[in-house]
Amino acid sequence: MAPNQNLAAVLYGPNDLRLEERPIEQPAFDEVLLEVDTCGICGTDVHFLKEGGFGAQMLIKPIVLGHESSGIVRKLGSKVTHLKVGDRVAIEPAAGCRTCDLCKVGKYNVCLNGKHCPTQKHDGNCSNYFTHYADCCFKLPDNVTMEEGAMLEPLAVAIYAGRKVDIRLGNKVLIFGAGPIGLMCLVAAKAMGATRTVVLDLARVQHRLDLAKKLGATGVIAINKDDKEDDLVSKIQKILGGPADRVLECTGSQPGMRISIRSTRNAGKICLVGLGNDDVSLPMVDAVSREIDITTAMRYNHDFPAAVEIVASGYVNLKPLISHHFDLKDVHEAFRVASQSEGNKIMVHLIPRDTNNKNKFAN
Ligand SMILES: [Zn+2]
Ligand SMILES: [Zn+2]
Repeated sequence: MAPNQNLAAVLYGPNDLRLEERPIEQPAFDEVLLEVDTCGICGTDVHFLKEGGFGAQMLIKPIVLGHESSGIVRKLGSKVTHLKVGDRVAIEPAAGCRTCDLCKVGKYNVCLNGKHCPTQKHDGNCSNYFTHYADCCFKLPDNVTMEEGAMLEPLAVAIYAGRKVDIRLGNKVLIFGAGPIGLMCLVAAKAMGATRTVVLDLARVQHRLDLAKKLGATGVIAINKDDKEDDLVSKIQKILGGPADRVLECTGSQPGMRISIRSTRNAGKICLVGLGNDDVSLPMVDAVSREIDITTAMRYNHDFPAAVEIVASGYVNLKPLISHHFDLKDVHEAFRVASQSEGNKIMVHLIPRDTNNKNKFAN
C-alpha cells in the first residue's frame, strides 16, 4: 500500500461493491486515527451487499462496509491519554451520541443518534484507515492476534446475548443457527456456565454443525426440509436431557423462534439475537402460559472488556472459527464466499497477515 492511501470497500447498491480511494479523516480531540489490520465479514455486511441494507437501515448513500475490525493506533486526538501510537486495538463499532436519554441510562447500543457502523449514515471500517472514538478502542494484549481482535466484535454480541438471558452454571442451552454468531454464542454460553448445549442449523451447512461439535457442543441437529416441529423439539430435549433453560436464537426465522419457544422449560429465557423474517407467527399462548421470558439483543453493551479478557486468558479459543483469509484487493471474492455460507468466519487482511501478530502463525 502506498503511504497515506486509503482504499475502502464501498457499497453503492445491491451487489455493487467497489474498492475506491477515500480521504483519511483526522482524529477529533477524543478520537484516534487507526490503520485497520483485519476485518471479519458479518451477516449484516452480506445483508447490505445483497439487499442494500436491512430493516430501517437501507442504503441512502454509498457506505464503507465492515465492522468487525482490529487496527493499529496511528494518531491520537489531543485529549486521548489511555492509548499510544502503535497500540494494537479491537474496535467497538457501536458508539452512542453520549448525551441522549438512552446513552444516559446506559443503552448506548440502541442510541438513535449514535455513530454505529456501518449504518445508513456511518461508514464501516473495511478501509485502510478509520477514525473512531478512542474509548471505543480496546488495547489487545501481546498474545492476542489481530484476527482474534477482529473477532471480539461478534464475541461481544454473544456475551451480551448470554448476559441478557442470565446464563448460569449448570444451564442447558439451545442455540439456533450455526453461523458465526451462533458459534460465538456456543463459545460464550459454555464460558458462562452452560453444561449441555445443542446447536441446530440446516443440513446444507453441515460443515458449520461439524465445527459446533468441535467447539464442544453436546450435540448438533441438521434440519431437513420435511422435519416436523414436534420431532425437532424432542430431539433437542433428548440431547439436553430435558427442556432448555436458556435459548440463544440466532436465525431470526419463524421456525427457529417457534421451536425455541416450544423447547424451553417453564420460566425459561430466550434471547432473540438474529435478524431474519420481518413478521412471524409464534405459539404465544404456550409462551405466556408457561411464563417464558423472551428478550432481544442488539449489538453489545460494554461487553468488549470481557471479550478481550476471555480470549487473552485462554479461557476460550476462537481460532477454529476462522475459515478463510483474503487480502483487501480480493474483497469481492471474500464477500462471495461469505454470502454463499461456504465457510465460517471470513477475514479480510488490510495489512499483510501476521505483520502485527506477536505470536506468528497463531492463526
Ligand atoms: Zn457483526
Ligand atoms: Zn445517545
